[in-house]
Amino acid sequence: MYPPQFSAEPPSTDRTPRTYDVIIAGCGPTGAVLAAELRLHDVRVLVLEKETEPASAVRIVGLHIRSLELMAMRGLLDRILPHGRQRPASAYFAAIAKPAPTGLDSRYAYLLGIPQPVIERLLEEHAIELGAQVRRGRAVAGFEQDDEGVTVELADGEQLRSCYLIGCDGGRSTVRKLLGVGFPGEPARTESLMGEMEVGVSQEEIAAKVAEIRETHQRFWLRPAGVGVYSVLVPATGVSDRAEPPTLDDVKRQLRAIAGTDFGVHSPRWLSRFGDATRLADRYRVGRVLLAGDAAHIHPPIGGQGLNLGVQDAFNLGWKLAARIRGWAPEALLDTYQAERRPVAEAVLDNTRAQTELLSTEPGAQAVRRLLIELMDFDEVNLHLLEKITAIGIRYDFGPGPDLLGRRLPDLDVKQGHLYGLLHRGRGLLLDRTERLTVGGWSDRVDHVADSTAALDVPGVLLRPDGHVAWIGDGQRDLDDHLSRWFGEPAH
Ligand SMILES: Cc1cc2nc3c(=O)[nH]c(=O)nc-3n(C[C@H](O)[C@H](O)[C@H](O)COP(=O)(O)OP(=O)(O)OC[C@H]3O[C@@H](n4cnc5c(N)ncnc54)[C@H](O)[C@@H]3O)c2cc1C
Repeated sequence: MYPPQFSAEPPSTDRTPRTYDVIIAGCGPTGAVLAAELRLHDVRVLVLEKETEPASAVRIVGLHIRSLELMAMRGLLDRILPHGRQRPASAYFAAIAKPAPTGLDSRYAYLLGIPQPVIERLLEEHAIELGAQVRRGRAVAGFEQDDEGVTVELADGEQLRSCYLIGCDGGRSTVRKLLGVGFPGEPARTESLMGEMEVGVSQEEIAAKVAEIRETHQRFWLRPAGVGVYSVLVPATGVSDRAEPPTLDDVKRQLRAIAGTDFGVHSPRWLSRFGDATRLADRYRVGRVLLAGDAAHIHPPIGGQGLNLGVQDAFNLGWKLAARIRGWAPEALLDTYQAERRPVAEAVLDNTRAQTELLSTEPGAQAVRRLLIELMDFDEVNLHLLEKITAIGIRYDFGPGPDLLGRRLPDLDVKQGHLYGLLHRGRGLLLDRTERLTVGGWSDRVDHVADSTAALDVPGVLLRPDGHVAWIGDGQRDLDDHLSRWFGEPAH
């Protein structure tokens, strides 16, 4: 923790007392992770959540390798694992499951299926334990920013003040709309109905019919989702009134249209409707207001990447925003958030576009799909797609340098145990095989691990708090330059 308990931003000169360093709109997965990351640095953070109760739609989401690694980096994974089901690592590209390729370099090489409300609850609890305030039933309705901060107005008229406002308020983000940031892209071409319900026929009957239909229709499933309960996905074609919540009759009608039977479905636990719109915010930052998660990007759920992408936005933004609040951030640090994360979102949007085409029942698309299934037998193709979907292939552009520069470092064995175990506090870390480097005046924000036995084939690396390699080498002066670049002026 940094010693000062107050904001390093200049004090407010107007009459409204500044109450928080950061206000986050939305306590979904992105907002909760961002709040926890900020609390690691003693930032006074308030999360405003529109809904009074947590969401109830129990869709299972998949946490991919990079998100699992990040959770391990903050000591959260052990808490999450018992609530999910581990499945083998695979690209799951366009719902094509192939065995994991060889050469997959991660201690966490699996997919964790976990109900979204459960992961949301665990992340929110974690943020609160670290000291974040979460207020439910409080919607952000407006804001005004000036040179010193942001005045945030709630739906009931209450006004709050903070240095920064972050819109983590989902695809229909109020913050993004009020900012006037464009959200160009493609509207939904197809929509689906999804829900969990009981069935009236045998498991064998369902399995046989579903296998037959899924040979050509990928936007359809009936999968066991607990004792006596099935998860159902059907196209929403012809279910007209989008403003009304879907009904069991809608689902039955769609099942009969596609399968010739409604499988006797009854007693729905929940039903929802979603589309495959693809959109990306023009900007992630306007002054003191920033966007993260679905507020900045939406895309079809194929490949299960949306929650992962938002959570990873939060890991990228948290320490930079904290550095700004604490007063040591280099001038341009906050702008690296958009420079690094927007291209990542662009790439995810593109891969979901490609996957969506591969789900089409048109003969041409089906032929391309068969060809890709063959190609994925080549390890390199399989690994390339897996690195895309699981986000372990991300390389931020930190300028010229070895291939490792800008990439994440896997959870290596070090003298003290595992590398990720040393990153729980969200600080930078110098992993030093030469055992003669120093972090000098940056020791209040960067840890130094001297270990000549570390399983690394370079002399030293500087890791940012999000686990990306910011420097590689063995020269102290060069290291100092890079410490300044990422962690500002030394304290002494
Ligand atoms: C069928 C389906 C399956 C999916 N499967 C996966 C998967 O396997 N893996 C994966 O990674 N992703 C998956 N996703 C995507 C994932 O659900 C989203 O990407 C994720 O929820 C985004 O998180 P978020 O926190 O950015 O936004 P959200 O989860 O939308 O949270 C935003 C929060 O902001 C609140 N809010 C809204 N407006 C305001 C306001 N004005 N003031 C205050 N609060 C406000 C909302 O109530 C909400 O709680 C799936 C999506 C669907 C539809």
